Amino acid sequence: MSVLVVGSVNADLTVRTARIPRPGETVLGGDAVTSPGGKGANQAVAAARAGATVRLIGAVGQDAFRDVALRGLHAAGVDLSGLRTLEAPTGLALITVSASGENAITVASGANAHVTPAHLPPDLSGVTHLLLQQELPPEVTLHAARQARAAGVPVLLNAAPTRPLPGELLEQVTHLIVNEHELTALHPEGGTLERQAASILPRGPQAVTVTLGAQGSLTVTPRGTHRLAAHPVQATDTTGAGDTFCGVLAARLAAGDDLPGALRAAGIAGALACTRPGAQDAMPTWAEVDEVLQ
Ligand code: ATP
Repeated sequence: MSVLVVGSVNADLTVRTARIPRPGETVLGGDAVTSPGGKGANQAVAAARAGATVRLIGAVGQDAFRDVALRGLHAAGVDLSGLRTLEAPTGLALITVSASGENAITVASGANAHVTPAHLPPDLSGVTHLLLQQELPPEVTLHAARQARAAGVPVLLNAAPTRPLPGELLEQVTHLIVNEHELTALHPEGGTLERQAASILPRGPQAVTVTLGAQGSLTVTPRGTHRLAAHPVQATDTTGAGDTFCGVLAARLAAGDDLPGALRAAGIAGALACTRPGAQDAMPTWAEVDEVLQ
């Protein structure tokens, strides 16, 4: 009943400005706000809030951003016994948000870039699902996926951020989760979203989910297409909706839900995360999701 996340851990440093500075320009902004982030950490927190036992493999540095990066993971009770402290800066995302809601993000990978396959646990006993993203070195993600498949553990891959997705990784994936942009990057020939998603199935995954923001999600399996409308909410900050969706999907599959049930819970959680500011701070508890499900 446990989810293993192998992924990135960052501190986010956010400044709100009137507009995003142009190259060479300096723009005065509001107070800097630090918050925990990184797709691996975000998804681990979402899964733990949804009730799963979660273990995270990743790395941070020894600097002041370490405590910021780990705050949400500690609070959510994520097992950090596999987290390494390396001689590198903690991963840092520099985020500028303009008054019109646009953002510009620079990620300094820091310790995340120094995670190696040697940091992976030697055996996966007790792990029911592996959850991966694309913010660690590709060889680590591939190694973890291969190890899980060899142990009969299903592999969920959120192919974000957009970067080349090697065929040998896709072959190991049980369930691929992408948003529209990431899907287009994987399948630049075009066609309907459903056809694009279906065309990925022969390359390995048994299910491909495309998240569609306020339009909900679309999941294609060899048995057909499952469309899910979004849970209607007054969205004020969509940061982290995708990470919430992925974490809760893994948590509910680990809890024994069938695919439609797990997708429904993930969609509700993603929607609820949009009603509050921030990424990890906005993620709902299982009680909040369950209340909507009832
Ligand atoms: P991000 O990169 O901002 O974290 P994403 O693009 O990876 O997000 P989205 O498709 O925006 O992911 O959101 C994931 C899921 O969360 C959606 O499939 C949907 O179920 C839910 N969701 C997102 N935005 C909304 C919204 N405005 N209203 C209702 N549900 C939403």
